Amino acid sequence: MKERLVIIGNGMAPGRMLEKLFEAAPGRYAVTIFNAEPRVNYDRIMLSPVLSGEKTYEQIVIHGDGWYINHGITLHKGTRVTAIDRAAKTITTDNGLTEAYDKLVIATGSVPFIIPVPGHNLPGVLSYRDLDDVDAMILAARSRGNA
Ligand SMILES: Cc1cc2nc3c(=O)[nH]c(=O)nc-3n(C[C@H](O)[C@H](O)[C@H](O)COP(=O)(O)OP(=O)(O)OC[C@H]3O[C@@H](n4cnc5c(N)ncnc54)[C@H](O)[C@@H]3O)c2cc1C
Repeated sequence: MKERLVIIGNGMAPGRMLEKLFEAAPGRYAVTIFNAEPRVNYDRIMLSPVLSGEKTYEQIVIHGDGWYINHGITLHKGTRVTAIDRAAKTITTDNGLTEAYDKLVIATGSVPFIIPVPGHNLPGVLSYRDLDDVDAMILAARSRGNA
């Protein structure tokens, strides 16, 4: 029987890790991924060309939906893990799912921090971390003159 590998986060690190894992130990793990972002793994470093209009989101996708299907990976898009029970070896998600694991990878990246200067929480003050931030910046640029 396959070992159950659960991964929290679907960014650049687990994408590369899985490529290596499938080479080193093919068929060993049944992989389940939970990603707060509602999308597949993409090249976050290339968000700037998406922002400038030189590339589209589709052009910076690293692993499309077919890759997950071909490798038998269950990918829960738009699903945030809210709790880990290390004694029971389970995780729980914001939409009420519970998943058991034998091995757990936490690959949740980082969270942008906006310095708490006056005005930091005004509309139009944005962080830059994912595709949603890029969409917000493009929208803001359409309605405002300066950055
Ligand atoms: C615009 C931009 C340009 C960059 N350029 C460079 C560069 O030139 N060179 C370089 O080395 N690095 C660069 N970086 C940094 C690089 O992208 C990150 O270091 C890298 O993406 C980190 O990978 P990761 O897998 O650890 O996390 P991430 O790629 O951040 O992925 C983490 C994922 O986990 C998800 N997540 C978080 N919490 C949960 C949860 N509780 N449950 C489920 N999912 C969760 C998030 O939604 C996210 O999708 C850049 C970053 C940005 C934003």
